[in-house]
Amino acid sequence: MAKPDFALPVCQHTPAAYTGPSKSEVLALRQQYLTPALITYYTEPLMLVEGHMQYVWDETGRRYLDAFAGIVTVSVGHSHPTVVERVREQVGRLQHVTTIYLHPTVGQYAERLAGKMPGDLKVTYFTNSGSESNDLALLTARQYTGRFDVVALRHAYHGGSQTTMGLTAHSTWKYPVPHGFGVHHAIPAYCYRCPYNKTYPSCDLQCAKDVGEVIKFATSGQIAAFIAEPIMGVGGVVTPPKEYFKIVYEEVRKAGGLCIADEVQTGFGRTGSHFWGFQNWDVVPDMVTMAKGIGNGTALGAVTTTREVAKAMTSRIHFNTFGGNAVQATYGLATLDVIDAEGIQANAAKVGGRLKAGLSALAEKHRLIGDVRGMGLMLGVELVRDRMTKEPANTETVRVFEEARKRGLLIGKGGFYGNVLRIKPPMCLSEADADFIVAVLDDILGSL
Ligand code: PMP
Repeated sequence: MAKPDFALPVCQHTPAAYTGPSKSEVLALRQQYLTPALITYYTEPLMLVEGHMQYVWDETGRRYLDAFAGIVTVSVGHSHPTVVERVREQVGRLQHVTTIYLHPTVGQYAERLAGKMPGDLKVTYFTNSGSESNDLALLTARQYTGRFDVVALRHAYHGGSQTTMGLTAHSTWKYPVPHGFGVHHAIPAYCYRCPYNKTYPSCDLQCAKDVGEVIKFATSGQIAAFIAEPIMGVGGVVTPPKEYFKIVYEEVRKAGGLCIADEVQTGFGRTGSHFWGFQNWDVVPDMVTMAKGIGNGTALGAVTTTREVAKAMTSRIHFNTFGGNAVQATYGLATLDVIDAEGIQANAAKVGGRLKAGLSALAEKHRLIGDVRGMGLMLGVELVRDRMTKEPANTETVRVFEEARKRGLLIGKGGFYGNVLRIKPPMCLSEADADFIVAVLDDILGSL
């Protein structure tokens, strides 16, 4: 199935020979002992056994460019040597200690994180995942305000726990059980598929005003919180107009609600121009939730807020066994150090800009591309069968995705209609890698 004439950029790393169980044995174990609810990407599942920076290797020693970074989790590179070394040292010294004892790293890490935040966003609660972070943010907002109603956006993804599934707004990710009590979904700023059939800026940001309408008509008029991703990830890199969040945050605050920015995908420099996604929209949230890229692929999440808001949680005990443990804190701190030391955000801006320009040029050439959007290294390409009707090209998207893998390129797909290519690589991506991505997609789109 390989298309070897597609040369990946040069890589100095040589993978170790793989000596583990065969792929068919691994698949058989999975089929017998893991839940059938798990999905694999690709018709012929891909097995990965080694990683180095933006590349991964399968069991045969074949290399791939990982342009999806795990699932937007590997921020500075697979098995980044600095992160690995620091974590190895910590594991060897003290493998587990929770927050019921003092340990230096968790505090040092929280201090560094606070240094990245604007305003009074200075205290952090560590968790193990994005779902846990959003769950905690919601609970904290409800505790702090004494109110229950929450506004989220259609097309959003905030997690799969029973509470966060209620925030998520895709039927495909929702089980038919009672969930989402008090959650109301407003119209998102999805300009390419504007539900009002209007065009920015003459639309006058009608979508932003919908948040106020929802508060007015679906709640008591006072809410606990509004939660949104600065750029929607799973929803298909839905990128709002620059005024959107300012208008929305104002409406939310008028109704007494806290503004929660879900930075699980957009944080840590991914948008290139800013460290946090929300900074692109010139707003300051009351709470920031994080996961994925925060720990370069480890199970780490966080909620940062103001001391005043965080105090609302002191009326009971809230405990997370692994949240803020020494090893995860080391992962997070080392990742942050690498982001700063290696100019990761600037690289996301530079290489992401080049990649977006390349993808936009493809849109001139291939009619299947309806929209190219996103910022930095958080990019999406929406495929449509007809540029007028915008009929989602979902089966074609699957073909592009499968063909890319044959050419050594791993990308993601998403959007409610499954027709958005998601390109969110480790942020150490080089210009040569960006050109490779464009060349591969050009070849595939030309062959469809
Ligand atoms: N928020 C966003 C924006 C996400 O993309 C995700 C995961 N796709 C989550 C929250 C949930 O994170 P986790 O899978 O770590 O629970």
